Amino acid sequence: MTQYDYDLFVIGAGSGGVRAARMASGHGVRVAVAEERHLGGTCVNVGCVPKKLFVYASQFRDHIAAAAGFGWTVGKSTFNWSHLIANKNQEIERLQGIYNTLLHKAGVHIITGRAQVLDAHTVAVNDKEYSAERILIATGGRPSIPHIPGREHIVISNEMFFLEQLPKRTIIVGGGYIAVEFACILHGLGVATTLCHRGHKLLRGFDEDIRDFLAHEMSRKGINILLNTDIEAIENAGNSFAARLIDGSKVDTDLIMYATGRIPNSTGFGLETLGVELDGHLAIKVNSDYQTNVPSIHALGDVTNRVNLTPVAIAEGMALVNKLYVNQSRPVDYDNIPTAVFSQPSIGTVGLTEAQAREKYPDIDIYLTRFTPMKNTLSGIEEKTLMKMIVVRSTDLVVGMHMAGPDAPEIIQGMAVAIRAGATKAVFDSTIGIHPTAAEEFVTLREAVL
Ligand code: FAD
Ligand code: NDP
Repeated sequence: MTQYDYDLFVIGAGSGGVRAARMASGHGVRVAVAEERHLGGTCVNVGCVPKKLFVYASQFRDHIAAAAGFGWTVGKSTFNWSHLIANKNQEIERLQGIYNTLLHKAGVHIITGRAQVLDAHTVAVNDKEYSAERILIATGGRPSIPHIPGREHIVISNEMFFLEQLPKRTIIVGGGYIAVEFACILHGLGVATTLCHRGHKLLRGFDEDIRDFLAHEMSRKGINILLNTDIEAIENAGNSFAARLIDGSKVDTDLIMYATGRIPNSTGFGLETLGVELDGHLAIKVNSDYQTNVPSIHALGDVTNRVNLTPVAIAEGMALVNKLYVNQSRPVDYDNIPTAVFSQPSIGTVGLTEAQAREKYPDIDIYLTRFTPMKNTLSGIEEKTLMKMIVVRSTDLVVGMHMAGPDAPEIIQGMAVAIRAGATKAVFDSTIGIHPTAAEEFVTLREAVL
């Protein structure tokens, strides 16, 4: 007879925790998962999924405007925020139900409540104690907000998904994924949007051509981008807010959203007392098998702050279960992870940026094209597409691909397979294109521009 209530106790039913729990249970492991909020975690409830639904909602203004060029007469169109929120909530509840069913069917015991780790093998939820041979921390992260006077007036991305009213004017602070995506969403929905970023360019870490191109396209659409600045204080001005910037100027607005990064949920539930090691950014330190310095405690996903994306948390969950319960070591390969920003135009990227490639290799060729997507020839919409490929001349290996334009995330997903398979430029050149598409440009890039 086993000495523990469970073999594996998972804390957090988000992307990583759910996948690890379900997979482990499928291998006959006795699993419980504790969740204090909603099944599905950040991605399903206040992240990827509702965000993408908002992106779709915000694109219709352009779609409707584009229709005239194709012969359509469209009647007066209006947008109803409450309707969108209600439909979004319904869809999220449906997904929560699916997660519930999947976990139940897999035989995972779902425990609702905030988990506290009492010792290396004991977790308490709602004053009830559970013992487990192993504990998996998959508690994700939360927004990190700088301490400024008037901080109580701001909202974060979580709240954006439940706003009662769409503001007329907004300021979004930050220049990363969330700030850029929400600036485009709100602008698309008709909100006068200002993006306020402390850096000199948006999207640090992305290829420079993509960063410049996106900022240009966002500005051209009418988003007011303020760079090299920050909010010093926020004052309540009755029905609106006044943001005082570091140069002393003031911007009046109806809503201020902060998207200034996220911090791991690693504190306040017992790990400190147990001596689980954290890094300087509060991320749980793990070895290549997702094990902390306390051998029975594992951690993965955003709480380890490595690559904070849903597919990565899921892959880590599977790698952990394979290692612990299938005796197969199939570690996650963190190279060439594709990623997308669901901005407008959207961005898809995989592999090295030009700057990274030049640092790593002495002989780099750059292939780059900018063009008007076919739909925009009749639509009257001025938005362009940018595609860029980075090749090592001596080996002909394609080491980076970057795109900004319609469907870039969909296109780059396929390109990521080619890069991971070690495709050379010659392989791309010998691939027949699909015509007429934007994606075919990636197999017809003939002349290096640099
Ligand atoms: P989470 O999904 O955050 O799950 C952690 C869970 O643990 C939560 O449900 C939380 O309630 C629970 N929890 C925490 N502490 C406790 C406790 N003590 N007891 C019980 N339960 C606890 N990624 C993409 O790949 N694509 C996207 O388009 C994308 N868009 C995003 C948009 C936004 C606005 C945000 C915020 C994130 C987005 N992400 C996106 C990132 C993605 O959501 C995360 O990388 C992913 O959810 C991480 O999964 P996780 O399992 O580590 O944690
Ligand atoms: P990011 O790390 O992407 O961006 C944070 C931004 O805030 C940066 O521009 C940063 O500037 C700025 N910033 C940080 N601290 C401060 C501060 N004190 N004052 C002013 N500005 C500050 O974080 P996000 O919050 O946008 O998103 C969190 C993570 O969630 C992402 O990194 C990504 O992993 C994931 N995500 C993925 C999405 C996707 O896959 N499409 C979508 C949304 C989120 P600087 O560059 O100068 O540091």
